[in-house]
Amino acid sequence: MKNEGIEGTERFLSPGKGRGLRATKHFKVGDLVFACPAYAYVLTVNERGGHCECCFTRREGLSKCGKCKQAYYCNVECQRGDWPMHKLECSAMCTYGENWCPSETVRLVARIILKQKCQTERTPSERVLTLRELEAHLDKLDNEKNEMNDTDIAALHHFYSRHLDFPDNAALTELFAQVNCNGFTIEDEELSHLGSAVFPDVALMNHSCSPNVIVTYKGTVAEVRAVQDISPGEEDNAKMEIRQKLSTPPEEEEIKQMVMYARNVIEEFRRAKHYKNILHWPFLF
Ligand SMILES: [Zn+2]
Ligand SMILES: [Zn+2]
Repeated sequence: MKNEGIEGTERFLSPGKGRGLRATKHFKVGDLVFACPAYAYVLTVNERGGHCECCFTRREGLSKCGKCKQAYYCNVECQRGDWPMHKLECSAMCTYGENWCPSETVRLVARIILKQKCQTERTPSERVLTLRELEAHLDKLDNEKNEMNDTDIAALHHFYSRHLDFPDNAALTELFAQVNCNGFTIEDEELSHLGSAVFPDVALMNHSCSPNVIVTYKGTVAEVRAVQDISPGEEDNAKMEIRQKLSTPPEEEEIKQMVMYARNVIEEFRRAKHYKNILHWPFLF
């Protein structure tokens, strides 16, 4: 796939302000700006049995992998679709039993390494930013983060060496740093944690405490929607910004602002939905 970009948006690079994604057309509140399939993803261990490992569908009566009896699927297609990734873990889970305990980040990184090996062309998840271009912020790694990285690299070698050839430690440190800075957690409608994923195109957007787009998930696809009107031309308004990532628990004042922000967003969505219903536009929500 060649670099096709995302319709209605463009990648920018401004001196001193870094890179990002901005609108080249008008987006109304509620509009889908773009959808991005996960480059790589992993279902969280706690949700095994309730969700399909391949498409994340939640339902009763999923069928389990006959070998490890730990991964569950909708049907044979989903099982086949997930096998290239599941095989990284299937026999290791049988061998290690209860001692099989790589972190979710390690599981995701193993999948990324495998994907990078089999996928040499640009993927549909990388229309404006490739995985290799993700920021690593290696200069911001303190001792604590370095130690975490070393633990993760050791776990990766321990649990995944049978099916993977690893890049050298410097490349692995960079990859873990990229995933830690840019990884997304996938949540269901009740905001409970379903898994982790990387969405390179979504990661191009900057973070803000008053975002103009939000990310929701349909299975393992991230959907980016406008929660404020976005107009091209005006520099600050055209920039697409997602919710600030929290590295420390928020202060009381921040929580108040977040609650207020959430109320406003819900209010805006209700209004947008109402208008769309009146006008008989395609049902978006
Ligand atoms: Zn499925
Ligand atoms: Zn299995």
